[in-house]
Amino acid sequence: LMRQADQAMYIAKQAGKNCYRLYSRQMNEEASQRIRLEDELRGAWGRGELKVMYQPIWRVEDRTVVGAEALLRWYHPKHGAIPPSQFIAVAERSDLIGEIGLHVLRDACAEAMRWRGRAGQPAPFVAVNVSSRQLRDRDLPEQVGACLRESGLPASRLHVELTETALLRDEALAAGLLTRLHETGVNIWLDDFGTGFSGLSHLRRVPVDGLKIDRSFIADVETDGDDLALTTAIIAMAHSLGIRTVAEGVETEGQFALLRERGCDLAQGYWLGYPMPADEFVKLLG
Ligand code: C2E
Ligand code: MG
Ligand code: MG
Repeated sequence: LMRQADQAMYIAKQAGKNCYRLYSRQMNEEASQRIRLEDELRGAWGRGELKVMYQPIWRVEDRTVVGAEALLRWYHPKHGAIPPSQFIAVAERSDLIGEIGLHVLRDACAEAMRWRGRAGQPAPFVAVNVSSRQLRDRDLPEQVGACLRESGLPASRLHVELTETALLRDEALAAGLLTRLHETGVNIWLDDFGTGFSGLSHLRRVPVDGLKIDRSFIADVETDGDDLALTTAIIAMAHSLGIRTVAEGVETEGQFALLRERGCDLAQGYWLGYPMPADEFVKLLG
């Protein structure tokens, strides 16, 4: 009875607190599935089931690789590959995201140390996704600092990606934390830009180095005049603020050509390169 009451309370809390929910059997099934996944996720890194893939990020102007985004994959022994859209949420609801996030950060910094730029080019950067839960963790700047020290990676070669929604949770805390992080030389990028509550005020309060234009804008940029107009406007706005843009989800040559015409700085997407194991990314660098 106590356990079932606890489950109902959990669902009520999730529904925004200050309300009540009656226990149902379905709640039980959902909860036990979540708990099972959470249990399996605990220790998944240790068992080698979690792998970080690297998706190349290209400079649009001359189509050279200038960096890569670290994207986590979970190869579950029974269920096969589980997409981050499913397990990151599970990790966020428990205390696991901090631990997993730290593993990704450490892996990314160590890998990036092996990356060399082509003659006369700076070495590629690595971009790491940070979730809102990690942002509430006050020692994120210390964790990042420790990973940089351990690996020897210069701070300028690390990009931290956050969504606008993550910033909204507690903007004052986030702004303070990100300012500290930015002062150490780490780049701050806004992910999925244009989908959240794109309060442009974030761009004043948080030290932002770049915007990642969400792939929902890029998908129809060739056929939908509004999407092209919005993409062009985001690029122009970013440039007038002195910050850069990455187009996400570039899947066709036509999209790439339009982005080049509109002056987008960087791009990533299946047309340019899929997320790949670290060793393959090193080969791509030549
Ligand atoms: P994101 O940071 O916006 O990452 C971009 C997503 O778009 C990735 O999905 C990538 O595989 C996918 N993508 C790249 N190019 C294309 C394309 O041309 N077409 C399409 N349709 N998709 C493309 P993925 O790897 O499934 O990751 C989904 C989300 O999960 C990420 O979105 C990010 O928010 C989160 N995530 C992934 N790894 C981590 C991590 O280590 N930590 C945290 N906190 N979140 C992560
Ligand atoms: Mg990202
Ligand atoms: Mg994104």
